[in-house]
Amino acid sequence: MNNLIKGEKYEWEMVIGLEIHAQVKSNSKLFSSSSTKFGSSPNSQVSLVDAAMPGMLPVINKYCVEQAVKTGIGLNAKINNYSVFDRKNYFYADLPQGYQISQYKYPIVGEGKVTIDFKDGTSKDISIVRLHLEQDAGKSLHDQNPSKTYVDLNRSGVALMEIVSEPDIRTPDEAGMYLSKIRSILMYLNTCDGNMQEGSLRADVNISVRKPGDQYGTRCEIKNLNSIKFIKQAINYEAKRQIEILESGGSIEQNTMLFNTSTGKTRPMRNKEEAHDYRYFPDPDLLPLEISQEEIEKIKLSIPELPDELKNKFIDTYKLSNYDASVLTAEKQTSDYFNKSINSDPELKNHAKIVVNWITSELFSLLKKNNLNLNNSPVSPENLGQLIKLISNNEISGKIAKDVLEVMFSTGKTARQIVDEKGLQQVTDQGEIEKVIDEVISDNPNMVKEYLDGKDKLLGFFVGQAMKKTKGKANPKILNDILKNKLNKEN
Ligand code: ADP
Ligand code: MG
Repeated sequence: MNNLIKGEKYEWEMVIGLEIHAQVKSNSKLFSSSSTKFGSSPNSQVSLVDAAMPGMLPVINKYCVEQAVKTGIGLNAKINNYSVFDRKNYFYADLPQGYQISQYKYPIVGEGKVTIDFKDGTSKDISIVRLHLEQDAGKSLHDQNPSKTYVDLNRSGVALMEIVSEPDIRTPDEAGMYLSKIRSILMYLNTCDGNMQEGSLRADVNISVRKPGDQYGTRCEIKNLNSIKFIKQAINYEAKRQIEILESGGSIEQNTMLFNTSTGKTRPMRNKEEAHDYRYFPDPDLLPLEISQEEIEKIKLSIPELPDELKNKFIDTYKLSNYDASVLTAEKQTSDYFNKSINSDPELKNHAKIVVNWITSELFSLLKKNNLNLNNSPVSPENLGQLIKLISNNEISGKIAKDVLEVMFSTGKTARQIVDEKGLQQVTDQGEIEKVIDEVISDNPNMVKEYLDGKDKLLGFFVGQAMKKTKGKANPKILNDILKNKLNKEN
């Protein structure tokens, strides 16, 4: 695969690394018992610890630590038995402590890796440098008053996992696939709700460009992107900007950038000289975090089947392609739906590929059109299974099945009910089909002549006419066989 992009003068390669912030799915914050519920009225979930009142002491939330360990295991990463919380010092109005409690030298999770799967059947591993636990800051609200900024501390102190990748990513698509895969793993583990719109999952994107084979170039970091679409847009824009500078003889300054979602452009927020010196030091209010091997083993037992395992199981059991299986397992709701559907009838196991296609193309497009998802789909997995059985038994054609699915979708009726009510059963009776074909042939003598003179394409016309007469219900194979036979006899 060629991942290079063309500048005016040279070809360039992108080098990309992501720092993903994932909010731990937990009822209370990392160092206090305040609620983490999203969307509550401002400053209604702020304890004295979160507001940084003098003399308040943080108390570690064991549950959040367990979720970080669980996530590390899910990312095939090394869990560190010893880790340390540091203070990362900076001043901002929405950071009442004047520092963020984070982990620096000794994170709770070390090196790991995740795999992304491409459409052409190949895959690639992206290495993970570390995962550390830290507190989120509060939120400055600039749009509530024309002359004032308000501060909402509900988010202050909420537990985040920061997952840092190696600069192994080479294209905007790979960046999107990597983030999707991390999101998928987090959601299977149930350690983060994966809701990017609410900001539970967001990423800082680091990007540089180089000529193939050269050393890594100087990078810029684009802060706080909360959708895959924006990540791809920002990378494309930023790579182009860097290439233009380099090709005109300039050099890249290591900047921190902001992405404007309405213009699609990046702009510098601060440069290296202005970069913060955070003066990290171990937080004197917290002891180093020690986790025993037994505790880690115990958490391992709670790990559910993850997308990659499930993918391999689907490939083995149902002979699906790597890509089909990865689409099916990307979201837990999809693999759950597939499992229920295919297990609703013993015969369906031999038609797994058809089940996949009906879920990922027909059903997905109806759901999308109606702004729904598999969890609130009007068509249950069992009912979809029944529809597919009608197709595989030749009771209805695939074409009619599409119409049936739409009726199932809008009425909630089963496929069987609809087929019976509307008399949609396929016509497989030879005599009946012959009769129709005879009519078509005698109605179109000129076409028949043209066909016999070598215009093979006309076969489709006859099929279409005959299908029309049977209201699309003739079994296509039988129809085709009889038609060819009869036409050739005309000769
Ligand atoms: P910092 O702590 O200053 O943010 P790190 O070395 O931890 O720096 O890197 C942060 C992120 O930047 C990582 O995800 C890493 O993969 C990425 N990165 C490092 N070097 C480059 C580079 N030359 N080009 C693109 N990304 C890079
Ligand atoms: Mg960084």
